[in-house]
Amino acid sequence: MKFQEIFNQSSNRNLVRPIDNLIFTPYNNLMNILVLIKQVPMSSDIGVDEETGVIKRDSGDSKMNPYDLYGLETAFQLKEEYGGKVSVLTMGPPAAEAVIREAYMMGADEGWLLSDRVFAGSDVLATSAALSGGIQAMENRSPFDLIICGKQTTDGDTGQIASECSEFLQIPCITNVVSIDSIIHDDSISLSSDLGHRIEKVKVPFPAMIAVEKGIYQPRLPSYILKKKSAGYQINWLNQEDLDKTNAALYGLEGSPTQVVRIFPPDSNTEQEIWKGTAEELSSRLFSLLEDEKFLQEGI
Ligand SMILES: Cc1cc2nc3c(=O)[nH]c(=O)nc-3n(C[C@H](O)[C@H](O)[C@H](O)COP(=O)(O)OP(=O)(O)OC[C@H]3O[C@@H](n4cnc5c(N)ncnc54)[C@H](O)[C@@H]3O)c2cc1C
Repeated sequence: MKFQEIFNQSSNRNLVRPIDNLIFTPYNNLMNILVLIKQVPMSSDIGVDEETGVIKRDSGDSKMNPYDLYGLETAFQLKEEYGGKVSVLTMGPPAAEAVIREAYMMGADEGWLLSDRVFAGSDVLATSAALSGGIQAMENRSPFDLIICGKQTTDGDTGQIASECSEFLQIPCITNVVSIDSIIHDDSISLSSDLGHRIEKVKVPFPAMIAVEKGIYQPRLPSYILKKKSAGYQINWLNQEDLDKTNAALYGLEGSPTQVVRIFPPDSNTEQEIWKGTAEELSSRLFSLLEDEKFLQEGI
């Protein structure tokens, strides 16, 4: 099924409703939480194939996307409060197992790697299609109540994965989540979303997808005890064979409507000027320059 058809079928918007008063009801059942995590290059080591515009994943050291630490911490806090299980899923090359191991060292219970050459060259839409296919394959065993993403990545940086996955999965999605306010037994989650000019409090039914803001909780550090304990934990692999075959055209290059035309570092101005004069002369000259360059606006 093409993305547009899936998108048209979605009824997400009707499922999200602002609420006035929050009711707190203890959640007695265990929560099944999934956190999406991604391995990204250490910022100073990003290598790019100038021909194809694709990031060279083996061109330097990698780490867990820093924003995903907040997603993980949110899941751990919910598990500590309400009980349950925290699984993690990453799509990437075999080396991305490292971020799953890191998540184990923080307290994740189960790790999944979605990896297949077919997914190479995926843009954000094809990545979302594959991740959603992976989630559906995992859900054949036990459905998730809540799927948590970070706000964005430090490499692709589109911030679109949560919204697009939720459309594929046809579940409600709340982005810019700054706090979890309550969970109502077997029913819904209430949370606050920062819309920039206002905070919106919303209640969404399970299953739901959320993208959390940096700072929602203070991420914990990996623990040495958990490192020892989790050394024997297995990592579950998924490949395209495990996903719904009818969606094969949505994955990889074939499913990617975006094409990188050219990729290059932005121009940087390294020219320097040294000014001499009295404090008054220099401040007046600086003021004129800032005005000319439109850094100063009337009334500010
Ligand atoms: C034409 C094109 C070709 C590309 N080819 C490649 C390629 O060959 N190889 C490659 O690695 N990248 C490739 N990319 C980049 C890749 O599409 C993006 O990195 C990917 O779509 C995720 O988008 P993002 O990084 O903007 O995530 P965002 O939307 O900014 O991330 C938000 C959150 O989504 C989750 N998330 C994001 N990505 C993943 C993931 N992979 N696994 C689990 N959770 C995730 C995390 O929780 C993250 O915090 C390509 C992009 C384009 C446009």
